[in-house]
Amino acid sequence: MKDMIEYLREFDKKRMWNHYDEAKTPEEKLEVLQKQIVSLLGEFGEFANLVKKYRRDGTWYPEKLKEEVTDMFIFLLKITQTLEMDLEEEFYKKMKINEERFKDFIKGD
Ligand SMILES: [Mg+2]
Repeated sequence: MKDMIEYLREFDKKRMWNHYDEAKTPEEKLEVLQKQIVSLLGEFGEFANLVKKYRRDGTWYPEKLKEEVTDMFIFLLKITQTLEMDLEEEFYKKMKINEERFKDFIKGD
């Protein structure tokens, strides 16, 4: 995870797309987040469109679907940078909460 974030940050820095680094106040972060959310939803829309086309025309493009999921992940990572959050740490924290919350749904044993 750390390597991916480092790679993304270097990529963005070279293109001056690392707006998350300059956003320090809540207002500045809000402005950056709004742009990132629009971009994330744009990628989500591209993914949804491929699913729609499959339902409508039966055209199945697994590689393109994977590409769009990856685009979503990239924008999600950018959001984590704006929020200055450790996604890996937060993931495990939330999964622990989910383990407790959904413990009655475990099947088998
Ligand atoms: Mg895309």
